[in-house]
Amino acid sequence: MMQTNTKRLVILGAAESGIGAALLGKQQGWDVFVSDGGTIKPHFKETLVTEGIEFEEGVHTMDKVLNANCIVKSPGISDKTAVMKQVRSAGIEVCSEIEFGYRYKGDSKVIAITGSNGKSTTTKLTYHILKSAGYDVAMVGNIGYSFARQIAERPCEWYVMEVSSFQLDDIHVFNPDVAVLLNITPDHLDRYDYVFANYVASKFRITQNQDATKYFIVNQDDKAIQEYLATHSIQAKLIHITMSDNNQWNEGGHLGSDERLHIQYGGEGLDMSIHELSLKGKHNQFNSMAAGISARIAGVRKEKIRESFASFEGLEHRLEYVATVRGVEFINDSKATNVNSVWYALESMKKPVILILGGQDKGNDYTEILELVKEKVKAIVCLGADNKPIHAAFDGVVDDIVETDSADVAVHAAYAFAENGDVVLLSPACASFDLFKNYEDRGDQFKAAVKNL
Ligand code: ADP
Repeated sequence: MMQTNTKRLVILGAAESGIGAALLGKQQGWDVFVSDGGTIKPHFKETLVTEGIEFEEGVHTMDKVLNANCIVKSPGISDKTAVMKQVRSAGIEVCSEIEFGYRYKGDSKVIAITGSNGKSTTTKLTYHILKSAGYDVAMVGNIGYSFARQIAERPCEWYVMEVSSFQLDDIHVFNPDVAVLLNITPDHLDRYDYVFANYVASKFRITQNQDATKYFIVNQDDKAIQEYLATHSIQAKLIHITMSDNNQWNEGGHLGSDERLHIQYGGEGLDMSIHELSLKGKHNQFNSMAAGISARIAGVRKEKIRESFASFEGLEHRLEYVATVRGVEFINDSKATNVNSVWYALESMKKPVILILGGQDKGNDYTEILELVKEKVKAIVCLGADNKPIHAAFDGVVDDIVETDSADVAVHAAYAFAENGDVVLLSPACASFDLFKNYEDRGDQFKAAVKNL
């Protein structure tokens, strides 16, 4: 029999990124095999069948997996799994899906956004600015289609990409034109041997292949970022964003004492009152600066950016206004799955707060929000299977702490504590998997319960 010299691409994990890599791989002439140790969702399976791509589920047949020139691994699969241990010891090249996509992106440009919090918001806002300015642009990564699928199905001139640290762990030549690092606070440490420095290093991989023709936008106020920058040299052109009123950078963004955002790039400055931004809160001022500078680098004029800042509709489950019931406002921040995002939520609250907190704890340290809780929170409604960490942190700090185990009961309990002029804030600081399918389900159930009050 004649031997073909087609290269074999093995994909581990058949969700959005795996399917995207499979489609792109097939299109680019690879012999593709997809292996998923769990169950593949029906619509993904349908795509594989329709495309005639060989796959397996519920098992990793190692003979087939190890017969590969390149392996694209889903960001959800840890190196600690049996399958990955064998793959690593076999010395096969492992790529993340954004790495694989990057190799086929042609002349298009990439704006890649990472950070512990604010990735989705900043990605969507940047996309909104470019799209409104008439660019041929797609939003890819953890939000929307995977990069690889977008390239396979509808390539664009620009990609605005949300990138997680897991996606950065297996990049080799991935080299965005603009990289954004919003912040780094402890998260996902279970995947980094509980060593914060490993997680920090992983985030900084976003700039590892950039040279001085590329841009790297960083948060100057973030301690972990600053410590890393003080001890490592960066090749890319660094651009800083900060909340302090300083103009030491010719290019960058800062918040003036006049409550205006100032963005300076390429000889063109934009300044805009924070009250004109559609997104509220300090965290969103960082996000807006990052998005605005990225758009300026992409060549969008300041007038367009200003219009888009004002017209942007925020994302569901991120400080999302739900309703006001007899003077009590309800806000859904179900996506706040770590303590830092709750800090920013509380920081932006102007009224007394009834805080709905809890869920699957990832080893939270609540001291970061202690002062804000003392200052603003009247009562805590726990919404989790195990609420001991919340009691340990806030007993004696907040007078009223009650436990609930459903969104409906939590909303009723919070409403009972609330008075006219208060706000009920669901901002849980925890993952949702103990009581809900995911954070969207938690947010949806919360909103439904509020509507039924
Ligand atoms: P990510 O995609 O990184 O998870 P999101 O934009 O989905 O980020 O926001 C997640 C949570 O973090 C929300 O509760 C949101 O209000 C909050 N948040 C958004 N931007 C920031 C930021 N720059 N710093 C801290 N928290 C933020």
